[in-house]
Amino acid sequence: MNYSKYERMKQLIADMKLPDYRYEQIIKAIFLQHISTFERMSTLPIKLKETLIDTFGPSVCCTVPAACQTSGQADKILFLLPDGNCVETVNLHYKKGWESFCISSQCGCGFNCQFCATGTLGQKRNMTADEITDQLLYFYLNGHKLNSISFMGMGEPLANPNLFDALNILTDSSLFGLSQRRITISTIGIIPGIRRLTNEFPQINLAFSLHSPFEKQRSELMPVNRSFPLHEVMDALDNHIQHTGRRLFLAYIMLNGVNDSPDHAKALLNLLQNRGPWTHLYHVDLIPYNATDKTSRTFTSSDKGTMKRFRDILHGNGISVATRTQFGSDISAACGQLHGVEKDCIAAVESFHKKNEV
Ligand code: SAH
Repeated sequence: MNYSKYERMKQLIADMKLPDYRYEQIIKAIFLQHISTFERMSTLPIKLKETLIDTFGPSVCCTVPAACQTSGQADKILFLLPDGNCVETVNLHYKKGWESFCISSQCGCGFNCQFCATGTLGQKRNMTADEITDQLLYFYLNGHKLNSISFMGMGEPLANPNLFDALNILTDSSLFGLSQRRITISTIGIIPGIRRLTNEFPQINLAFSLHSPFEKQRSELMPVNRSFPLHEVMDALDNHIQHTGRRLFLAYIMLNGVNDSPDHAKALLNLLQNRGPWTHLYHVDLIPYNATDKTSRTFTSSDKGTMKRFRDILHGNGISVATRTQFGSDISAACGQLHGVEKDCIAAVESFHKKNEV
């Protein structure tokens, strides 16, 4: 079991035989006063501050920003993790001050979806619960509002068991205090993870990356389909809806000439009409494909007319469907474009290793 830094802080205070309220003071300093270094926590005794710094380093946040790209409503931050790996986090800001964050759950990804840039990196390792939540803590400490969070960055969240510890931290009212309804998990269909989410976090929004209604084609595009076939995932999703009564989002990337034909639309319609009483709780998001030059097979996005025809087949038959607009594709910050081994990342990793050598 990996303990989170919050649990370790509590333990450290008990080990030092200090009163419990010292822990409350640290948490208050972080989450109410937005204090980002232990040194500046003026209510703490010097000995405690020193021990905290020795144990956790000077900053309360273990993710260090190494590079940032900005474009209109999207900022993409490259974070350096304590072991020299990098991940990317995207901050989207909307009119009226609403902010949403697209966060990563794994360094790289081992599932090899044919159209996704992150998949070309391979799986390096799972992120820890601290690393996952520190992507948000970094922004929170810098005055951002965490209005909505989606696990749509790098990696497959439901393949990382640390995700559940991260969700506990994010929804803990004494820590981030986020409502489950502000969090969305996107998955390629890891069935045991879906079941666990149904039981432990029923109010969290669930999105399923579907991308083809045909088992054979889905297995080609997304090899995970061989382990967790579409029809079994759909059963797990029905069960999720039955238990939670919540809407379920189906993501469908529109790949020109690959999965955008009327036959695909009809097969998708058929798949959803077979859900019985749960059909109306499925919502399809059609997503234009975002170009990436990282994948070995090249795809292009379907054109607007094709997307509209596809949409009309679903909509005309009572399926809830929308075409999702995306920000950030010009800085490779949109879905499926996060890759993080650009020159910035290499430079950050080099300087990290240099620092550690000294
Ligand atoms: N592994 C999870 C979480 C990542 S979310 C999942 O796949 O669901 C990233 C979303 O972007 C997924 O819906 C994914 O299928 C989609 N995606 C991947 N590559 C894309 C691309 N090049 N263009 C648009 N969407 C893409």
